[in-house]
Amino acid sequence: MSTWICPVCQSSSKSDGSPLTSPWSCALHIASKALTEPYPRRHLIWSQKINPDIDPRRKNPHWKNNKIATEILQAVNDSQPKQAAASGTSRSPKAAVGQLRTEAESLLKNFVVNGLQRRFGPGNWAESIWWTDGVPTNVRADLVRRRELAKSMESPLAWGHPVEFLEIITSSLAWPIFEPPLKGAGFRDQRAFRDQLVKFNEIGNLTHGAREKEPSTEDVQFARDFVDMLNTASK
Ligand SMILES: [Zn+2]
Repeated sequence: MSTWICPVCQSSSKSDGSPLTSPWSCALHIASKALTEPYPRRHLIWSQKINPDIDPRRKNPHWKNNKIATEILQAVNDSQPKQAAASGTSRSPKAAVGQLRTEAESLLKNFVVNGLQRRFGPGNWAESIWWTDGVPTNVRADLVRRRELAKSMESPLAWGHPVEFLEIITSSLAWPIFEPPLKGAGFRDQRAFRDQLVKFNEIGNLTHGAREKEPSTEDVQFARDFVDMLNTASK
């Protein structure tokens, strides 16, 4: 079940609190607001941009919920992808989690590379010892194998999943590099960081594969908080 976001007020629920589950329910939300909302009547103004004839004060034609919703339905449909891109929010929990997972992988990769370069010296993976001396052998082998199968020349870390970054960060050699920024971002200790990353990974795994199911609101919030903390640790 996906959730739709009102392009006018960004709400994702009806006045009774139930979610907007379709473009039609979103259009009905806008229509009922357009009829009842006091000044500045944002939902009405938005609707009138689509059809200037929409005017609840005019009796002929008589504007009711369904009639307004029908008029604006196409515009509601069109508004969703743009909204997701602009606000960073996604219309479904699954899409939101997928986006957060991509974000987390990119943050983890940069966090690892920057930390190891600070410790072992600059340069890319092929010309510096941070790759050979800072990344555990089994992780290096897995990532290089994936890269070779993809016939790519990109850095092997581009193939890293959260669990591999976890293994790099928590290795006894590298942990002293990463501990201060992670603690500064609110992870209590290595155990807490590990538990939260594993939970984040499990939420991400809900969104594909055989066990596919929609993440809960709490799952999305947890994933968002985790990415926020990674962002802080990366600064
Ligand atoms: Zn609204």
